[in-house]
Amino acid sequence: MRLNIACIEGDGIGPEIVTEAKKILDKVASVYGHEITYTNILMGGASIDVHGVPLTEDAVAAAKAADAVLMGSIGGDTTTSPWYKLPPNLRPEAGLLAIRKALNLFANLRPAVLYDELADACPLKKEISSAGFDMMIMRELTGGLYFGERHTTEENGVRKAVDTLTYDENEIRRITIKGFEIAMKRKKKVTSVDKANVLDSSRLWRKVVEEVAADYPEVTLEHMLVDNCAMQLVKNPGQFDVILTENMFGDILSDEASMVTGSIGMLASASLNDTKFGLYEPSHGSAPDIAGKGIANPIATILSAAMMLRFSFDLDREADAVERAVKNVLKKGYRTIDIMSEGCTQVGCKEMGDLLTDEIN
Ligand code: NAD
Repeated sequence: MRLNIACIEGDGIGPEIVTEAKKILDKVASVYGHEITYTNILMGGASIDVHGVPLTEDAVAAAKAADAVLMGSIGGDTTTSPWYKLPPNLRPEAGLLAIRKALNLFANLRPAVLYDELADACPLKKEISSAGFDMMIMRELTGGLYFGERHTTEENGVRKAVDTLTYDENEIRRITIKGFEIAMKRKKKVTSVDKANVLDSSRLWRKVVEEVAADYPEVTLEHMLVDNCAMQLVKNPGQFDVILTENMFGDILSDEASMVTGSIGMLASASLNDTKFGLYEPSHGSAPDIAGKGIANPIATILSAAMMLRFSFDLDREADAVERAVKNVLKKGYRTIDIMSEGCTQVGCKEMGDLLTDEIN
């Protein structure tokens, strides 16, 4: 298969971690008989330095011409970097918002997996964490409260602010279909999270999710109220497979779910549109405090690349191989500084990339 991948190395540790992800993708390609073409795109601070803006139209066109985008992370130290003296629409993060919009990336996926070897980093009690968990949070990314009309007024000296939460059935249906498709590749369970006891938008959400569910008889559907879900994530995270939810609930729950894993350098993510196209990036930022030191953990980016193989290219066997490589290397006791624990061997970014690449054969 030919894989046409656009790469955004970005800023800070971005170039270091993307180099390691490309190394393992190249090994996958040679072992499984694929051909990869990479096109480099500038975004964030790297683009500001060259073009004066965080994202150019040419960069968007190059991303659109690719099958998928692999990204490191963008941004610098927000107190010292000159990028943050620019107006907000010219700062590094504006590039990320602009590319998400230009590519119509409405579905955000964040896996939260507890690896046995990293169980000590999990802040939950042993009797809960020992059961393990492996869930996928699917968050609607382009609708709801964050995109509704908003205004602030003042009447008779009293200030008043209004935000509106709107969803139409098409926006709900397209993310729900994605959620069920992804559940079909996993344990075939969807937990749809809403606040249907209060909100009209949640009642419509629930109806549309049930309509879509009728087309997926193999998938078990359950509904859960968002407040209960927030509790269940710390009480019994092992019950979840795919959590499907709207924008604001997903924003909060995905951070909660990722933090119960306890390891920021391990957290992958993907943002998808209604084709096979997606943008794949680690959940963490550009870590300017450790940039250039060769100590960053490349695993979140490598697991994001595995998601790309699975969701944009349907290469499940290859994605399994990358995920297995991560488990094997952890089992052998190798750790980057962020996940280091007693009795393990500390390695740098490049060495971790090499160890993972060697596992693919
Ligand atoms: P951060 O995630 O970059 O770093 C938080 C802490 O985690 C730091 O101590 C860092 O060293 C550590 N860390 C993060 N990733 C690591 C890795 N792979 N290996 C080892 N340690 C790691 O968050 P921040 O410091 O708040 O933000 C730094 C910059 O990143 C800011 O400019 C911010 O806007 C940007 N940012 C970008 C994205 C993105 O590109 N999508 C996301 C979040 C933050």
